[in-house]
Amino acid sequence: MGTPGAFRRPFEVVDYSALMRVHEPPPEYFDGGYLASLEEIERRQLASLQRRAQQAYEVPFFRRRWEQAGFQPGQLRTLDDLRRVPAYTVDDLRRSIEEHPPLGDYQGASLAGARSEPIRIFMSGATTGAPRPTLYTQWDRDAGAILMARALYLQGIRPGDVVVNAWAYSTHNGAFAFDEALHRWLNCVVLTTGTGNVTSTRRQVELAHQYRATAILTTGDYMLRLADMAREMGLDPRADFNIQALPNIGDRDKLEATWGAQCFESYGFHEVQWVAVECPEHDGPHIFEDAFVVQIVNPETGEELSDGEQGALCVTEIYKTGSPQFRYNIMDLSFLYPRERCKCGSWLRRMGPFAGRADNMVKLRGVNIWPEAVGEIALDDARLETDYFVRAVREGNRDEMIVHLVAPLDCPGRDDIVSGAEARLKERLGVRIRVALAAPGELDEMTEIETSPKPKRFRDDRGA
Ligand SMILES: [Zn+2]
Repeated sequence: MGTPGAFRRPFEVVDYSALMRVHEPPPEYFDGGYLASLEEIERRQLASLQRRAQQAYEVPFFRRRWEQAGFQPGQLRTLDDLRRVPAYTVDDLRRSIEEHPPLGDYQGASLAGARSEPIRIFMSGATTGAPRPTLYTQWDRDAGAILMARALYLQGIRPGDVVVNAWAYSTHNGAFAFDEALHRWLNCVVLTTGTGNVTSTRRQVELAHQYRATAILTTGDYMLRLADMAREMGLDPRADFNIQALPNIGDRDKLEATWGAQCFESYGFHEVQWVAVECPEHDGPHIFEDAFVVQIVNPETGEELSDGEQGALCVTEIYKTGSPQFRYNIMDLSFLYPRERCKCGSWLRRMGPFAGRADNMVKLRGVNIWPEAVGEIALDDARLETDYFVRAVREGNRDEMIVHLVAPLDCPGRDDIVSGAEARLKERLGVRIRVALAAPGELDEMTEIETSPKPKRFRDDRGA
């Protein structure tokens, strides 16, 4: 009855002791790789980079671009040589998908081979444009889950905890990736509630309360909404719950004051999962350098920038075996700290906070404006809620920008909130930006706050 050729199940394709040596899971990672010397970090990075370059060279998308640029994997002799590898952006991936539907030619694994190399497929959340598929091997799923488990551990989640996962289980890997990290690498008991559309906000609160959950995985804004619901139900978010870890996206001060736990910033994206997380010093997320080499480049020219300069993140993953991401200019703005030892004892390189999308930049009467910066300045008023949404519109022959803010309907001094925010924006950015007040909940459709892993903050309506 047997069929020829290898049929291997997911647990048969990964050498788990090898995996745990290369990418230590928590808690042992924090006494091991996390404290490695600079020489050790860079020695391992270079070896993994060279291995990964050979694999990427077998993938048509990369081979084509590298040959055009006259680059071969053998030329990677030092970490510095990475700058010779051509970078690419999401537009190049989109073109690859258009020319080779549905998967593009950038995958390093195949659906046809799933019988011997089990595959999972996930799509990007499409914060920008059409969703992009990524194929993951079992090694890639587990290694990625280990990185996430480290981040969750640093944020306060401990083995055996009950955790509510309020992300939507969908074509996006967000909810699933958390699930794998929690269940497979931290033995956490996951309550898979899904978003408020699947499990009502009231029910989410009930479950977190009854099961003494140490975290509810969702956005910061939704976490604050859960706190409002808890109070409505006569519960005190600090005293009646057991929350130990908070989301990395949202109003940090308000979240910490509301739930009585600490926020830790982190950074990641669909194709590679979790890249970096803050340590207890809260001084910039540490990059998991056994899994990534991160550079900062000029968003327009792709040229590498120096430490401390703001530019676009250019990410190379060195932990996967399947679909590579090798010098992916992700167009998220940030900067790198100089290489130095953190007070926490780690030499792992730190990056600055996410400072906006390079491709969301709007030129408003000659001034470069990032919607995230508009949001940050506009929200500097305690009467406002943390939600905002920015639109660029064309009026007559002028570009205008409008920022929608949220204040309760019975909030005093609504006119004063608007004029105050407009004055702050004018003073800080040098151009006039209009402010419009919305009622709580009114922006949800635009921000997709309950369904999207990253709330949307900007829409360009100038073509409309
Ligand atoms: Zn540190």
